[in-house]
Amino acid sequence: MKEFIVTVDGPAGSGKSTIAKIIAKKYGFTYLDTGAMYRMIALYALENSIDLEDGSQVEAMLANTKLDIVGNQFFLNGKDVSEEIRTPRVSGVVSPVAAIREVRVKLVELQREISKGKRIILDGRDIGTVVFPNGDVKIFLVASPEERAKRRLREYEEKGVEADYESVLSSIKERDHIDSTRKESPLLKAEDAHEIDSSTMNIDEVVEAISKYIDEKIGE
Ligand code: C5P
Repeated sequence: MKEFIVTVDGPAGSGKSTIAKIIAKKYGFTYLDTGAMYRMIALYALENSIDLEDGSQVEAMLANTKLDIVGNQFFLNGKDVSEEIRTPRVSGVVSPVAAIREVRVKLVELQREISKGKRIILDGRDIGTVVFPNGDVKIFLVASPEERAKRRLREYEEKGVEADYESVLSSIKERDHIDSTRKESPLLKAEDAHEIDSSTMNIDEVVEAISKYIDEKIGE
């Protein structure tokens, strides 16, 4: 099979990355976590006290950040930051960073480059709308904010990261708000995306629903 693109968009904590990893394994697709790319830029901005309002600082930041992705490992200027980019500290600043047009231009270009000629599943916010409007199968995965906060809290607990339910919930709502109201590529369901609400579904059920759409498309 030649290039085949599956896009999974949706709000923070809807289960995109968990599901996308399983689908990738099942079909032998490459998986690209585009949120991790925005998180790497956000980490750089944090560590270098970049003033996000200052265009020349943002420009210099983008010129000085080299992102490499090897499997599930993420390297920022040669340093493995896979763990660090998942901390609440980075989650707290990533949405304002991702709202900057120049940041998106650089990362969208990189996402298209990485995907060229591949059978790939990508998750993010604008994959089915902006990055790959002609994607083969588009999924829009949603869940209630409360359910998503519970899932994130469980993830933090498993990793030993300290967090409490109320602050995780408010951080998720804050990110939802910024991500869906920003001018540049807001979180939106593509017209031709299949919406799946995972609030009351388990992982297997979501995987099964998505597999059905993929199988249908492959069989065409
Ligand atoms: O998916 P994840 O929660 O790791 O994404 C982190 C943040 O990166 C999101 O809250 C959003 O602001 C931004 N993002 C984006 N476009 C994408 C993927 C992520 O704006 N395609």
